[in-house]
Amino acid sequence: MLRTICNLRGDLLFNKPVHSYANLAEYYGVNQYYLWNIIKNEDYYPPAWVCQILKVPARALAPVCPIHGIVHPGRCPRPRKPCLPWLSEEEVEERLRYIKEKYGKD
Ligand SMILES: [Zn+2]
Repeated sequence: MLRTICNLRGDLLFNKPVHSYANLAEYYGVNQYYLWNIIKNEDYYPPAWVCQILKVPARALAPVCPIHGIVHPGRCPRPRKPCLPWLSEEEVEERLRYIKEKYGKD
């Protein structure tokens, strides 16, 4: 089973009341600074080399797709299609009419 940082945090929170940071650091094989941060700060994510020792997946920055505005797990499935549908002629006419009515002259 894949261990996540959340699983690890759970283990640490469970073990912290009965073990010192020095003990935990020895057990997990990383400096207690990282363990302290994982326990104290839910948003903290340790550097990749620490993740490797802790056996949790490392995290890296991923580019956001400029078309869809999200990070795709792989290649963008629709590279050329914009996320907003193109308006039909009628819809364009309708919007222009609306703008004209609302804001007066053309
Ligand atoms: Zn995309």
